[in-house]
Amino acid sequence: MRAIAVTPASKQLGLIDITEPKLSAPTDVMLRMLEAGVCGTDKEICAFEYGTPPNGSGELVIGHESLGEVIEVGADVTRVKVGDLVVPMVRRPCPHNDCPACRSGRQDFCFTGDFTERGIKGRHGFMAQLVVDDEQYMNPVPKNLREVAVLVEPLTIAEKALIQVWDVQQRLPWSCPVTAGKAQAHCHRAIVLGAGPVGLLGAMALVKNGFDTYVYAREPVPNPKADVLAKIGAKYLSAETHSLAALAESVGNVDLVYEATGASRLAFDMIQYLGTNGIFVFTGVPGRKGPVEVDTDAMMRNLVLKNQVVFGTVNAGRDAFEASIRDLGAFVDSWPEAVGGLITGRFPMEAHRDLLLGKNGGIKNVIRLN
Ligand SMILES: [Zn+2]
Ligand SMILES: [Zn+2]
Repeated sequence: MRAIAVTPASKQLGLIDITEPKLSAPTDVMLRMLEAGVCGTDKEICAFEYGTPPNGSGELVIGHESLGEVIEVGADVTRVKVGDLVVPMVRRPCPHNDCPACRSGRQDFCFTGDFTERGIKGRHGFMAQLVVDDEQYMNPVPKNLREVAVLVEPLTIAEKALIQVWDVQQRLPWSCPVTAGKAQAHCHRAIVLGAGPVGLLGAMALVKNGFDTYVYAREPVPNPKADVLAKIGAKYLSAETHSLAALAESVGNVDLVYEATGASRLAFDMIQYLGTNGIFVFTGVPGRKGPVEVDTDAMMRNLVLKNQVVFGTVNAGRDAFEASIRDLGAFVDSWPEAVGGLITGRFPMEAHRDLLLGKNGGIKNVIRLN
């Protein structure tokens, strides 16, 4: 079968032919892969910044944002059946008995760092025509989400973040008054930093939760991302016309910041404007550049005097995948055009080089695998 793979030792990227996987356990499931999304992680692997092939292999099949169709199941499989659409999870547990996270199915919080990730670290990914994996990593998706389900995995970033936000904010009286027709966070204001796929999907999740949502990004208006946001009722402010101070001024008390740029300077500058009882979520992974100066006194004063929380989040557990599938359905019901507008191109496997190495425009580009 064909797959898109990197060979880190010789710094190559290409379409390769590899042996078809086979069911090897009664709980195994075989997927015919339909689509894979291209994201910054894939591009960084293709730039050989990281990415580890499985033991004994020189090549790593890439791809972690995917959608497949079940074509064969082992004798003991109960979670899915032939014909189901599924989005597989990415991370697999570490082998250590003393890792309470992995031993309880929460490898997204692995303590040891010895987890593997399909398409990233130690396991082949999903940019292949067939994939076999255990049923416990499969998330069934309703058929009506066929055209957008490749967005489930990137949406899990926001879903895991929001699950944690609600958990953490339970420590204070943060609930909004119950109001008919309004979602639970209707009294709160959120800022999203960045209008890439993670930022836009995050904005959709925040709006669905009821947050008055502002997205702050570089590009001047008009632009396609601002158009998507206008359709969902979020406000777009460009860094070209608004300083962070002006942004904070138009928002009021900044209850939540969802960072989705990986730009550490911008993020730490933003922390200064986090409001009373505010919570700040980091999701980006910056490259290592030179140190920058931040006003640590001002930041620490705020953190203490305003009861603030700052946390980082990575990967996702089953709860976030399930929330993502549920919310994506709700997004499609409310804003079909905006959700469809996130996928800006579908390409054959042969087009992978431009998508992974070039500066392809658009929001989320997708590779068709079958
Ligand atoms: Zn990704
Ligand atoms: Zn672990």
